[in-house]
Amino acid sequence: MKRKYFGTNGVRGIIGDLMTPQFVVNMTSAIANFIGNKGTVVVGSDARVSSPFIKNAVLSSLIASGIEVIDVGTVPTPLTQFAVKHLKAKLGIMITASHNPPQFNGLKVIASDGIELSVNDQIAIEKIYAEHDYHIASWDKLYNVTKLTLIDEYLDSIISNVDQSLIEKKHLKVVVDGGNAVGSIVTPLLMKRLGIKVYSVNSHLDGTFPGRGSEPLPSMLSVMGETAKQTKADFAVAHDGDADRAIFGNEKGEVYWGDKSIALFEKWTLSKEKTKIFVTPVSSSKVVLDIANQLNGKVIWTPVGCIYVSRKMMESGSFIGGEENGGLFYRKHIPVRDGAMAAALMANIIAETSSPLSDLINELPNYYQKKDKIPCPNELKDKVLKYISENVGKAEEIITLDGVKLVYENSWSLIRPSGTEPIFRIFVEASSQERADQLLSEGKSLINLAIKNFS
Ligand code: MG
Repeated sequence: MKRKYFGTNGVRGIIGDLMTPQFVVNMTSAIANFIGNKGTVVVGSDARVSSPFIKNAVLSSLIASGIEVIDVGTVPTPLTQFAVKHLKAKLGIMITASHNPPQFNGLKVIASDGIELSVNDQIAIEKIYAEHDYHIASWDKLYNVTKLTLIDEYLDSIISNVDQSLIEKKHLKVVVDGGNAVGSIVTPLLMKRLGIKVYSVNSHLDGTFPGRGSEPLPSMLSVMGETAKQTKADFAVAHDGDADRAIFGNEKGEVYWGDKSIALFEKWTLSKEKTKIFVTPVSSSKVVLDIANQLNGKVIWTPVGCIYVSRKMMESGSFIGGEENGGLFYRKHIPVRDGAMAAALMANIIAETSSPLSDLINELPNYYQKKDKIPCPNELKDKVLKYISENVGKAEEIITLDGVKLVYENSWSLIRPSGTEPIFRIFVEASSQERADQLLSEGKSLINLAIKNFS
């Protein structure tokens, strides 16, 4: 059975379209039935305009099913994930659409270990939903909703994983761009507790995301960069709408894509830990492989999607994972993406090395990257992908975990169908601009040939 409602990051849709009170109540009833209509479920929500109505539907449905509910309030996704594990709850539901535009919202379902539910479990919930197999508890078996604030416990967990006294001694300065979203609730507080002077931008909560949108694209972070320059901050950090990702800027106001910062976190962690494994999706930069090789470590590639990274970290004993979108997974805290954890770790690295962030990033290997997309009807995707994998030329290594990745000595290309849109994506990376251009044009020709073959 293929999933109909769950995507890469839970159930997500537009308010009034997929996301209606009826849909949310029924889907939540299916989730309650999936855990046998008993036990404790933690619920958190982001600061979207629609989150209160969805949360009330979720709470109503859960308590009617006989579930004990703990409401942790308006918080980042990683805080809800931390709460599920910390409180030993059976499950968690986070109401969020992450970086999507304000008209979207959704439900992320979290397993008892704090990691998002596996695809098989998502399919099991969809089956219950499709069969309308819901349960209403008898009137004398109904619980109330307990409200709990866990911000201190969550920040304690992050702080216990960095060198607080070292960071305090350095009197660092940081600019935090919360994007008018829940990151503003935790990251400025965390930075202050580490003795860092905080300058905030887009810090008031507003579910219309008026500042710079809910996705922290480097091109949208000029205010953060300019503020870092003006205040002579040591670094700047921006979160997405549910603060599980962190995009960094340096002391000069330059903003980096996540592949640079995750490589820095990888370098720092692999140089300290005995288990030198970095877990990352196949779409990540070769920089992470270079760093692992320098430190006698290894990279484990996964399909694209944070669940795969988290689960592979648990399986391999890895302490760290990362995604090029700015997702950092730090297992000693929680093995899921956490933007605030990333900010604290960055402060620790800058404090420990006493180097400007620009120097730390410039020390990393540099590659030329290109990305493009080609329209392809959804029904042709499987055939097209099969044709491509049978007709790619020779490469040093061919990885087929997610699409087809061709690895050469100093370059690679990845062709994969989008999980959500009728397109094929192509990513290439090379040590020269010319080679990157060549790989992009070869890849695009192959995709077009394959599509033509079947249409
Ligand atoms: Mg997110």
